Amino acid sequence: MFLKRIEIQGFKSFADKTDIELSGGITCVVGPNGSGKSNISDAIRWVLGEQSAKTLRGSKMEDVIFSGTSRRKPLGFAEVTLVFDNKDGSLPIDYSEVCITRRLFRSGESEYYINKNSCRLKDIRELFMDTGVGKDGYSIIGQGRIDEILSSKSEDRRNIFEEAAGIVKFKTRKEESEKKLKRTKENIIRINDILNEIE
Ligand code: ATP
Repeated sequence: MFLKRIEIQGFKSFADKTDIELSGGITCVVGPNGSGKSNISDAIRWVLGEQSAKTLRGSKMEDVIFSGTSRRKPLGFAEVTLVFDNKDGSLPIDYSEVCITRRLFRSGESEYYINKNSCRLKDIRELFMDTGVGKDGYSIIGQGRIDEILSSKSEDRRNIFEEAAGIVKFKTRKEESEKKLKRTKENIIRINDILNEIE
């Protein structure tokens, strides 16, 4: 699997639709300070479900929408699509090309799509689980992240190895099942209380 194209429209400094084609090997993005290089990595994190405006270097999520310039009006929505080559089947979906889209309107309304089909953020998270590509995945190493990884708690470091080992999806399913089990046990207690009252 590799990221072959990034399509950005209305996201931060990218007012016009911009397609960034990536081929195999290494791609370097160069440009003067403030020209929008980091906005590209912000766009990638954002599509993958980043919910923290601070991580995206803003104060509120609306800050990712193009806010206008002296010559151009602000835009009403931001949209980013990541196109992955999935010929090797790394993503558990029956398509050789996978497009993930996130759209945000100024009203706060947010939309997610997998191959143009509307979906939940949870579906996107599950699709990328154990691939290293998620918003916290080890394939995106931001400035200062290496220091953070080396100095963080051993449990936090363990999460990185678990993602690489491919067991995060099982751990997540186990946690979900445990929560369901807990809710069911609470319901049984409640039902027993009601039965006792009736008897
Ligand atoms: P450096 O080399 O200094 O790290 P950079 O090339 O990584 O810079 P970015 O931080 O990606 O640059 O881009 C900053 C630019 O993006 C600034 O000019 C800022 O005004 C612009 N920008 C950020 N958010 C928005 C927005 N919502 N609307 C319009 N422009 C924005």
